[in-house]
Amino acid sequence: MRAAVFHGPFDITADNVPDPQIKAPHEVIVKVLAGAVCGSDLWTYRGESSAALESRIGHEFVGEIVAVGTGVEKLKVGDVAIAPFRYSDGECPACKSGWPSSCAHGGFWGWDSDGGQGEYVRVPYAQATLVKLDEAPDAAALPDLLTLADVMSTGMHAATSARVAPGDTAVVVGDGAVGLCAVIAAKLRGAGRIIVFGGKHPDRQALARQFGADEVHSARGPEATNTLKGSTGGIGADVVLECVGSAASFETALTLARPGGRLAYVGLPHGVVIDVAKLFRTNVSVSGGLCPARRYIEPLLPEVLGGGIHPGRVFTTRLPLADIAEAYRQMDKRETIKVLVTP
Ligand SMILES: [Zn+2]
Repeated sequence: MRAAVFHGPFDITADNVPDPQIKAPHEVIVKVLAGAVCGSDLWTYRGESSAALESRIGHEFVGEIVAVGTGVEKLKVGDVAIAPFRYSDGECPACKSGWPSSCAHGGFWGWDSDGGQGEYVRVPYAQATLVKLDEAPDAAALPDLLTLADVMSTGMHAATSARVAPGDTAVVVGDGAVGLCAVIAAKLRGAGRIIVFGGKHPDRQALARQFGADEVHSARGPEATNTLKGSTGGIGADVVLECVGSAASFETALTLARPGGRLAYVGLPHGVVIDVAKLFRTNVSVSGGLCPARRYIEPLLPEVLGGGIHPGRVFTTRLPLADIAEAYRQMDKRETIKVLVTP
């Protein structure tokens, strides 16, 4: 089969690799129907992660099951399923407490397992990991469903962790796919007013408004703080959803919350250090972290299948796996919001 392989910084190509084989009774093999490139894959692409050379990559996919291990009873060949961005056993204390993202036996796709940017994926702990669809989806539904693997679930984790409540003024920091999905999530939870701080890309700003943002600003740092104070009568936002993960973004995000406000972060943190003394003075609470995506997929499925939300609009480019190098180039240059990878 072919799969994306990380050869070194700015060098990811679709190569011929061995077909996956079931190694343990709890596993299945999935034929990927749709995969994606994530903003977090860019850390690896740019050589800023600890990914080993020649490792696989990609952690978002929807696929059809083509082989099942002897211990798998709840899934069968032909079922279509969504894979959360991390596999988990469903049985350890972390999983049982609702945190499959911290599963003792779990792991990320790619790295030392098959990646989601490939033709097939061997899925460990398949019954606990995969979310099976009741029926095979239309091709048109695939983009929306694919976002549940990561970005829409992660956006919902931001809104849930920040406890967005009806009527709240919510700020979203970041206009990447996760930030845009966080707008949808804040709206679903009843935010009264949604204000986005992102870049200057007109396509991202338009999508933010389409998803429910009332205001979209490209201001950063102190300018963002002043802009928000102007919009909120000097007080700041009830909730802030930090969807970038950089130190500068996090620092700005903290200044946007009102006294007693709630900030949630879901972007992979890079160099972020929290000054607790600042939190002490403002009583701003901070929560969030690595999204337990497996937990959000089932509750979000009816919203997606019923057409209530269309997070799949974040896929502004569609490319075949053979063109994965071009997919990364476009993501790296921010020429597209997110790339959907077809087999
Ligand atoms: Zn577990």
